[in-house]
Amino acid sequence: MTGTTLHPGTAAGRVVASMEELVGETPLLDVRLPGLAAGARLLAKLEMFNPLANVKDRAVLYMFTEAEESGLLPPTGGTVIECSSGSTGISLAALCAVRGHRCIIVMPDNATEERRQILRELGAEIISVPATDGLPAAWAFAEELQRATPGSWLPHQDTNPANLRAHYETTGPEIWAATGGDVDVLVCGVGTGGTLTGVARYLKERREVHVVAVEPASAAVLSGGEPGPHGIPGIGAGYVSEIMDLDLIDEVVAVPDEAAATTTREVTRATGLLVGVSSGAAAYASRLTSQQPRWAGATIVTVFPDTGERYLSMALG
Ligand code: PMP
Repeated sequence: MTGTTLHPGTAAGRVVASMEELVGETPLLDVRLPGLAAGARLLAKLEMFNPLANVKDRAVLYMFTEAEESGLLPPTGGTVIECSSGSTGISLAALCAVRGHRCIIVMPDNATEERRQILRELGAEIISVPATDGLPAAWAFAEELQRATPGSWLPHQDTNPANLRAHYETTGPEIWAATGGDVDVLVCGVGTGGTLTGVARYLKERREVHVVAVEPASAAVLSGGEPGPHGIPGIGAGYVSEIMDLDLIDEVVAVPDEAAATTTREVTRATGLLVGVSSGAAAYASRLTSQQPRWAGATIVTVFPDTGERYLSMALG
């Protein structure tokens, strides 16, 4: 992309012209999580502070801008089609609303009702596909729909390099600046792998950082397991996406659904912030990591991808 459209640090305390200006520059919270090893520091990047309250605002703004610049999408009046279990769809729907595009989201039918409501409020059309068929089938459906819809654009977050570039150019540098480079370990959930790949690449180019990937135990593909249904929305797609760089991963932690759910609640009560279930999974893996003797006194940075208000209808156990 030619020049980022993000305006880091410029939005606070001033009038902004549009929501795009509110993307990025999220804070890092020093999380006092019960059970964290004494002397360890856990800093969580709070992606709920993006305008649509999730990390995908970054990737979507990058993919969108690149599509406009390269002529794949007209300035207005186009059609955007994407397969998403929620976050990407919500961020896309918001930009489509602002810029006057039709937005069609192909969504597995196990996505939470809150996500559907938000998409509808933003004016997006939802096509539900059976979650039991798996995400590859949902993607195939979205691709077919895109081919059959003249003038439409499919961002394809799994294969679009602008997804990880957003994190390489914004999330990574923001973490570096906020910590002054004091990052021993990065713990990061993997959906498309855009966040992990972009952030880990940026940090590893600057210093030695141990990178821990987080995935659901019931779909532990990175650990050599089989795909399957699980209870941690946003991570655990069941396959390795095209943009994922596996060489950046030093360790994988597979998190059981119940552990993600209970840790989500622990985080919420320890911080006063409602976080999503994938944040709970990241916190669980961060705590385990902090307890390893080699990481005594380490600074562990993780990403909390979204708000918990989108999961209130899910029983957290
Ligand atoms: N958590 C949530 C809630 C998400 O929506 C996503 C993105 N699908 C992730 C984690 C993982 O992000 P990424 O796709 O960059 O791996």
